[in-house]
Amino acid sequence: MLTNVEHIGIAVRDLAGSNELFAKLLNVQPYKSESVESEGVTTSFFQINQTKIELLEATRPDSPIARFIEKKGEGIHHIAFEVEDILGEMERLKNEGFILLNETPKAGADNKLVCFLHPKSANGVLVELCQEKKKT
Ligand code: ZN
Repeated sequence: MLTNVEHIGIAVRDLAGSNELFAKLLNVQPYKSESVESEGVTTSFFQINQTKIELLEATRPDSPIARFIEKKGEGIHHIAFEVEDILGEMERLKNEGFILLNETPKAGADNKLVCFLHPKSANGVLVELCQEKKKT
């Protein structure tokens, strides 16, 4: 089950500059910054009430974020939905005809297991499923 929008991801060219911009916009400072080297990305997270915004800056020219900005410019990159059972949802959505970009959940930022759905199967929207990693 998808339970809520967990965050909205925004691709930016200059994370430091965008941190300042979004701190002004949201009137709150980012609560964390984190690099996911496997994805070639540095992220920072803002939170207001239940809403999170993830800013994403590429760390190398061949990363997905760099390619996205090259093609489309800065802007909204993905919508992430919280799920309770990521494997079950991946199976369900695959059976519904959505294209999964990864066949097994992978480690994302902010202590999450994530899976992305191809935008071409979702009206041009890159959809992220994310599940809080269970504390062991
Ligand atoms: Zn995300």
